[in-house]
Amino acid sequence: MLDPPMASADVSNPLQVAIVGSGPGGFYAAEALLRRRPDARVDMFDRLPTPFGLVRGGVAPDHPKIKQVCLVYEKIARSPNFAFFGNVKIGRDLTIGELRSAYHVIILACGASADRRLGIAGEDLAGSHTATEFVGWYNGQPDYRDRVFDFSTDRAVIIGQGNVAGDVARILATPVDDLRRTDIAEHALAALEHSRIRDIYVIGRRGPGQIKFTPVELKELGQVRNCAAIVAAQDLELGSVCQAEIADQRSDEAKKNVDVLRGFAAAASCGKDGGGSSGRRIWFRFLETPLRIAGPGRVESVTLAKNRMEGPPFAQVAVATSQTLDLRCGLLFRSVGYKGVAISGVNFDERAGIIPNRKGRCMAGEEPIPGLYVTGWIKRGPSGVIGTNRADSVETVEAIVEDLGAMRPAPKAGAAGLRDALGAAGMRAVSYAEWQKIDVAERSRGQPRGKPREKFTAVAEMIGALDAVVTPAA
Ligand code: NAP
Repeated sequence: MLDPPMASADVSNPLQVAIVGSGPGGFYAAEALLRRRPDARVDMFDRLPTPFGLVRGGVAPDHPKIKQVCLVYEKIARSPNFAFFGNVKIGRDLTIGELRSAYHVIILACGASADRRLGIAGEDLAGSHTATEFVGWYNGQPDYRDRVFDFSTDRAVIIGQGNVAGDVARILATPVDDLRRTDIAEHALAALEHSRIRDIYVIGRRGPGQIKFTPVELKELGQVRNCAAIVAAQDLELGSVCQAEIADQRSDEAKKNVDVLRGFAAAASCGKDGGGSSGRRIWFRFLETPLRIAGPGRVESVTLAKNRMEGPPFAQVAVATSQTLDLRCGLLFRSVGYKGVAISGVNFDERAGIIPNRKGRCMAGEEPIPGLYVTGWIKRGPSGVIGTNRADSVETVEAIVEDLGAMRPAPKAGAAGLRDALGAAGMRAVSYAEWQKIDVAERSRGQPRGKPREKFTAVAEMIGALDAVVTPAA
């Protein structure tokens, strides 16, 4: 909800704002800015011709309700003081320096597009993938559409126990007929149709009380048709420190998660086996850390160390014991979190994978960099759900409002000042109205298949669809 309605201020000297990135962080920053500074003109840039970041390219196709948040973003985009410049990559097509000369304020909202690495032998063997590749592939994200996954194996292993691991497990486990009417990319449906995967192991380095799934997402893993979620009852016998954590009011989610896992264990002991030999199984395993991924030429197994937990409540870490085991698998996904990527011309904290900032103000050492701000995952790291970005962006916008105070900065040209750069050879910026045409084309492509949309999976296809739209003669 946008309240109060955003005013279109009649100003000759608007506050020119550029937002880099059109995911939730970017849109919530636009929303807050347009409300707090009716004199603001917001130009949003994205490297893809399509907006909405991970809501389009990350949220699983069988989670259409989560994608409805785009209706909120569409409303923000309807403001007369908002413009979208898709297919423009900052750092390649335009520099931060060029943006700084055209805008009073720049908000970097470019997310965390790289993956944390395990740093173990065999990580890059064929058959070992990041969850990001798989998620991008089934969502038709142009960077990942050409990836190839070998589903001829019967066993997949997923390292990590967060919501992304949950998405990967669920898509691998779900009968393909249950995905047909989602917006999953057609190439993914075609490949998953022939999947021979039966057993999916979801491996955590800590215990059941420390998993990162949100309870709703965890519960869903027990509701996949023809699939059993399996937890060994003895894994749920918690030590005293874990019990203290669960009993603490702060760990409501952890308590709910353990209850869900207890439900899985009880169902398994009653003989729910996922529908017999044709069914699939998701196995939850705890206190196991991958030591190496092995196989001549491609993944054949992963060696895991058995861990024990050490440390006080809420600060327990996994410590490897000398006990190890080999788990055979033909496909492995590393789902151990994302990492931000540096932007040329902006300080970057390589270790944390974020842009150093204080409440959204980008910092150079102890000094804030005037006019440069940050929000979303590139500000705080890859945590929280979509809605978390709203409060995060409001905090950044409050910092902007505070820094500007009653100041009337000297006029800047905004997008008009970038006309030459945007019109350069090879550049093809996509406006919001053009994205809406892509949107309409995707929805009509999906219709014959009963899908909400069939995404274009290459930038050239998107631009081709635009250029194919014949404008009626006046
Ligand atoms: P995450 O929630 O941080 O989970 C990462 C998992 O990887 C944790 O289990 C972590 O264990 C494990 N891990 C990290 N480093 C490891 C290592 N070296 N070896 C073994 N395990 C390791 O990250 P995510 O799943 O990528 O999700 C990112 C964010 O997106 C989260 O906030 C998530 O909730 C959100 N998201 C939400 C949805 C949804 O709402 N439906 C869907 C997808 C993503 P430790 O706890 O021990 O570090």
